[in-house]
This record gives sequence, C-alpha cells and structure tokens, in this order.
Amino acid sequence: MAVTEDVLAQRRAPATPRPAAAPDAHDLFATAVEQFQIAADVLGLDDDMRRVLSHCQTELTVNFPVEMDDGSVQMFTGHRVQHNSGPGPTKGGIRYHQSVTVSEVKALAMWMTWKCAVVGLPFGGAKGGVRVNPKLLSQSELQNLTRRYTAEIAMMIGPTKDIPAPDVNTNPQVMAWLMDTYSMQVGYSVPGVTTGKPLVLGGSEGRNEATGRGCVFAVEEAAGVLGLDLGRTRTVVQGFGNAGSVAARLMAEHGSAVVAVSDSRGGIYNPSGLDLAAVTAHKARTGSVQGFGGADDVSNEELLLLDCDVLIPAALENQIDAENAPRIKARLIAEAANGPTSPEADDILHDRGVLVLPDIFANAGGVTVSYFEWVQALQAFPWTEREVNERLRLIMTRAFAAVHETGQKHGVHLRTAALVRGIARVAEFTRVRGIYP
Ligand code: NAD
Repeated sequence: MAVTEDVLAQRRAPATPRPAAAPDAHDLFATAVEQFQIAADVLGLDDDMRRVLSHCQTELTVNFPVEMDDGSVQMFTGHRVQHNSGPGPTKGGIRYHQSVTVSEVKALAMWMTWKCAVVGLPFGGAKGGVRVNPKLLSQSELQNLTRRYTAEIAMMIGPTKDIPAPDVNTNPQVMAWLMDTYSMQVGYSVPGVTTGKPLVLGGSEGRNEATGRGCVFAVEEAAGVLGLDLGRTRTVVQGFGNAGSVAARLMAEHGSAVVAVSDSRGGIYNPSGLDLAAVTAHKARTGSVQGFGGADDVSNEELLLLDCDVLIPAALENQIDAENAPRIKARLIAEAANGPTSPEADDILHDRGVLVLPDIFANAGGVTVSYFEWVQALQAFPWTEREVNERLRLIMTRAFAAVHETGQKHGVHLRTAALVRGIARVAEFTRVRGIYP
C-alpha cells in the first residue's frame, strides 16, 4: 500500500488516543432489516421465519494487540459475523476501515446471504471487519494486524465453514497472510480457507476483476431493457478501487464516455470523457485521482449529481439518500458498492423511472468468482480466465432475467425483486432443514 506524504505526516504527529467507535449515524443493520421486511411482506413470510432470518446467527467481536514498528503495542477491534449457514458454508469479505461498526458488519453479512442466493451459490452470508485506517500502517504492521485478527477469528473460519475474501482496503496479499496464518494453526496448507488469493497460492484467474466485470455484465442486460446503446452513454463512477476502476475501464471498452471518477479525497470531471489509463497512472503517483490535469476537481457529493446516463457507486454505503435522490440525473444506477442507497431513495428513484441494479445482484460477480476459486481449490484444478468469465456472464445474465421477471410479476423495484428471490430461497432451506435439536 503506497504511503503518501500526508499519511507520513499523520504517522509523525503526536500520538492521540484512538477515537471510540463512531456512533452509528446510519444504522446499516436497521436498513438491512427494513429491506428484508419489505420483501418478506411481498413473499407473505410468517412471523417465525421472519424472526429467524432477521437475526445473524453468530457474531464475534475481538479486541486484540498488535506490535507496531516503533515497539509500542496498539489495541484494535475486529468483528466476524455469520448471518445464515442454511444454504452451506458462509462466505463474505473482510474490510479494514476506520468507520467499521458491528451494525455495518451485520448488514453486510445479511446482504451476503441474499446475494449468494440470488445468483444460486451454495453459500450463506458472512462478513468481517477491523476498525483501522490501514493507510496509517506500514506493510509489516498490516501483516501483524492481519495475522493476529486471523488467529482471533480462526475458530469461526475454514474451507467448509466460513470463507473470507477481500473487501474495502484488503487485497490478495492480505488474503495470503490470512491463508498462511490459518494453515500454520491447523498444520497443513488450506488454500480453500479464503478466496481472492494471489494466483500463485491458488487464486482464480479473473477474481481481481470479477466485481467490476459482473457489474458491467449487469449493466449490459439492463441497457437492453432500457434501450440504451452503451456506446453512446456517459458514465460516472464513485470509488476508484478494485470494483470501481475495473467497472470504469470495462464501460470505456464498451465505448461509454467515463466522465467522472472519485476516491475518498474527491472526484474529477471531464464532460468529454477521461483518459482512464492516465488517471490510473496519476493516482499511482499521487495517491489520489484529484489534481488530474485533464479534468476539473469535484466533490463526491457533486459527482453523484453530474449529467450522465449510468452511475456506478463503487465506494461505501449511505451515499444516495432522500436528499440527493431527486436530483440524480442518471437513468441507470448499478450498485458495485454494498448498501449505497437508502430505502427512501429507492422509492424516489423508482418513482422517477431510474432503474437501480441493486448491490445483492449488481456486485455478485465478486462472490461468484470467489465460488469458482473455492471450487478450483477443492478440486486442485485451475480454470482459464475465459472459462471463468464465460461462466460469470451466464450466471449474471440468468440472475438478471429472473430478478427482472420477479419485479414485473410483483410490481416492485429490482431491489425488492432481488431480495424476494434471495429470501425465498434461504427460507426454503430453513424450512426443509428444520430446527435442531
Ligand atoms: P477498495 O478499497 O479497492 O476501493 C474503495 C474505493 O472507494 C477507493 O478508491 C477509495 O478511495 C474510495 N472511497 C472510500 N471512501 C470514499 C468516499 N467517501 N467517497 C468516494 N470514494 C471513496 O474497495 P472495493 O473492494 O473496490 O470495494 C468497494 C465497494 O464494493 C464496497 O462497498 C465493497 O463492499 C463492494 N464490493 C467489493 C467486492 C470485491 O470483490 N472487492 C465485492 C462486492 C462488493
């Protein structure tokens, strides 16, 4: 991870006590449960089933020490939550971010359950997170933190139990440390304990690009329904990390003019379209997309309201709400990020005729290729990138058709339609398995 000048300045600043967990301004788990109840109403789920499915089955919070480069010891807080293991082992990424809360991790775990069910994977949902700003850590501190967090949650994870993957601020190297730590604990190499690993450790071709690629497959399907010619569209992407940068590049390959992108410091805008290779080089050099010569700087708030056809939120949750939803100009929103849109905003956008491809469908490419990676690890037999991408396209195309049909049948927007499909499947597992003992 590149350590930029301002990060170095923060590291040199006098030590201040770490802030306590930020209060949950937006209780994300409450949003997830609200969405669940809306879909449960459409499905006519009974109260017993609602009680089971609206709870996370296992929640672990760990406070753990990490030795820093200067010899001091700092305490960190992490979580691992499994929402529902009815469909199979649980699956979900690990996020490193200074604003991680247990409510957020629970919501993300619940969405993983519905997401896996929407695209038909044999997994339940889970999520992990550590409250840390990883940009303030050196590589060795990041490794120490990852190994100790892995050791703390080791009793929950495993290739047939719960399989982590990368999420915000984690990457293949972090997954390699996780896999190595787990393997050292059990005494033999277990590549199937995580996905999103480096290729040399049994990672899958196409995994790094899978979330952005799956999102653009979803956009292609929706464009067909809307009669949009992607080659004549303008695209805005919020977040220029793993998911966002790949989605932006693939939209440009379709001929769309990518007019704005952003990162945590803000965005850049050029109504004629950005040279994405030059933007990527600028970000690698300076640590941010802002200040790029061929564009004007804009704030992340302004970026969401720019004139465009396709908007791809690919950063964090709680970005589109009742305040900005009436002013969004895009015709199509594809949620590469998890939870960017509030329930009120969903209704406003639906009423305005804006088609929203919901996160539990639009970003399912990541977990789908993670599933492929897990299968390849169990079989010790790698697939080619072409096989991976073709199977991913098939799954995204089928899921879009099914979700779209459900939306039409029930007269609901695609988020509720996707939830209806996912929840119905998990409810069926729950009903058929029954309650033990
Ligand atoms: P990442 O860390 O690679 O990139 C995140 C990007 O968002 C960075 O460019 C960061 O600077 C930017 N960002 C952070 N805060 C921002 C803000 N307030 N405004 C604008 N930009 C901001 O993470 P990622 O893996 O690309 O994940 C992005 C989103 O996609 C998350 O919601 C994640 O849960 C979701 N997602 C990721 C995957 C995956 O496979 N990586 C799969 C499914 C969903």
